[in-house]
Amino acid sequence: MAKKKPRKATTKDKAATAKTETLEVPVSRCPMCQSTERTAYHTTRELEYTGINANHQPYTHVVWRRTSCASCGQVRIDKSFENREPVTP
Ligand SMILES: [Zn+2]
Repeated sequence: MAKKKPRKATTKDKAATAKTETLEVPVSRCPMCQSTERTAYHTTRELEYTGINANHQPYTHVVWRRTSCASCGQVRIDKSFENREPVTP
């Protein structure tokens, strides 16, 4: 068995009742200049929607995050599929 990394628990964690899994997703690129440099995400919109993604991983939420290219300024929306299984008490 692999050793589990200790995780610092904070009071803020109580608000997060769901476990978030990290999935490998392709790096988002600017459709205009192919740069992967971008500004910070903002105006995040998410929808509770379950399904199976391209990597055959189940997801529970679809998330759209607005960003813009750091090199040419092209605005785009990065869409991601996230699996947030609710933690049963
Ligand atoms: Zn660009």
